[in-house]
Amino acid sequence: MTRPGALPGVLRRALDAPGGRCYRHCDQPIRSRRLASALPGRWEVRACPSGVVSVTSYAEWTRRDPTAAVRRALGRWTRPASLVRAWDLRLATRRGPELGRDAERRLAATHPPKGVRVVYWRVYPFRAPDGSERRLLVCFRRTHRTPVFFAADPSGPRWGCPVCARRRPKRHRS
Ligand SMILES: [Zn+2]
Ligand SMILES: [Zn+2]
Repeated sequence: MTRPGALPGVLRRALDAPGGRCYRHCDQPIRSRRLASALPGRWEVRACPSGVVSVTSYAEWTRRDPTAAVRRALGRWTRPASLVRAWDLRLATRRGPELGRDAERRLAATHPPKGVRVVYWRVYPFRAPDGSERRLLVCFRRTHRTPVFFAADPSGPRWGCPVCARRRPKRHRS
């Protein structure tokens, strides 16, 4: 028995999209990372090797609108949390035909019907007050337990993760 809202394999596979390349940044192949959370559905962060995020999405097989729960989860991972703005979140419902025949059959066999609801979080590049460009980046370093989303200039001299950067390097004991 899977958790309500969890995606069965046939739906997970239907949502898997090919990689693509980092748009208007480095043109490197996009990597897909999963995130763990208390929510039953599946998270995916699509980012280039430099950590520039193309899109983050959360997919749940449900009749509810998961947007508010998604926003709360993203707020916990994002510094500052105010980077997660309601208008950057978009809800789409996938009902079957565009997911392929296997997924469509699975959806059709479920009563009462429920859709695959996907919340997309996309932050477009923006300008800081000094005119420099800011992009949404993600840090997966293991020094913090959860991913950290933050805005920084990807061509700047520092990585910019506000959690890693706050840690002082460990002193060598003599
Ligand atoms: Zn890139
Ligand atoms: Zn970090």
